[in-house]
Amino acid sequence: MLDGKTALITGSTSGIGAAIAERFGKDGANVVLNGLGDEAEIEAQRAGLEKAHGIKAGYANADLTDPGAIEGLMGYVARDFGGADILVNNAGVQHVSPIEDFPVAKWDLIIALNLTAAFHTTRMAMSGMKEKGWGRIINTASAHALVASPFKSAYVAAKHGIAGFTKVVALEGAEHGVRCNAICPGYVYTPLVEGQVADTAKSRGMSEEEVKRDVLLAAQPTKEFVTSEQVAAMASFLCSPDGQQINGAMMQIDGGWVAQ
Ligand code: NAD
Repeated sequence: MLDGKTALITGSTSGIGAAIAERFGKDGANVVLNGLGDEAEIEAQRAGLEKAHGIKAGYANADLTDPGAIEGLMGYVARDFGGADILVNNAGVQHVSPIEDFPVAKWDLIIALNLTAAFHTTRMAMSGMKEKGWGRIINTASAHALVASPFKSAYVAAKHGIAGFTKVVALEGAEHGVRCNAICPGYVYTPLVEGQVADTAKSRGMSEEEVKRDVLLAAQPTKEFVTSEQVAAMASFLCSPDGQQINGAMMQIDGGWVAQ
């Protein structure tokens, strides 16, 4: 379905991004991985994608809080892959703390990574997509792009920001074959959520099991975690011909969380 296209997925060395990379590889796209982590493990992931799907897979370890590193990443994708036809702005981190204790450095990090990095990648990918008359930008937002939870001020601010940014890019790309949408997952059990369970347990004085049952899945009416593969399938659909008229949408995949 995506033969000949290149997908750049930020934060794809783990969790949701890794599942999206796997799915796009299966769909026939060349894939560029990005993210932090153990070099040998990432190389195994990259080589595994090539072997499993007969595609070209690359990797850049750009730290997306650094605009210069993002320029390096986009230059690599342009040089070695002819630019990104599909851009998934997925890298993100979380920090859980009451506002009065929220570390300023954590606020700055979350806004830089979860929001500003998507501005930089998108501004550098947009003209190539417009020239080709086809492009798909998918922002991994969150249910927290639509509703709030206590103790997540920076994350909720960044995700609400990405929702607005998504709509603007959707309007600017609309007549050029470029689509921009946000996927808004509820809780997906990835390393990011694992860390949150521990932090929330500390903030609220609860056990980790209580946090999973009474805090995380309490918000999710199905009482089940979303899977990374389900999020990846939605990303794939957004790049398919059937997804062509979806633009500027907040695609909820949250077991009914924001319906409440
Ligand atoms: P994860 O921790 O499993 O993966 C995060 C990825 O981002 C990793 O590849 C990591 O190396 C990368 N990363 C972290 N800091 C980076 C930096 N400075 N530069 C480049 N890459 C960096 O997390 P995940 O749960 O897969 O989350 C992926 C996205 O999905 C995030 O934007 C997150 O907010 C969003 N999301 C997650 C959930 C959930 O429940 N897991 C729900 C809604 C939205």
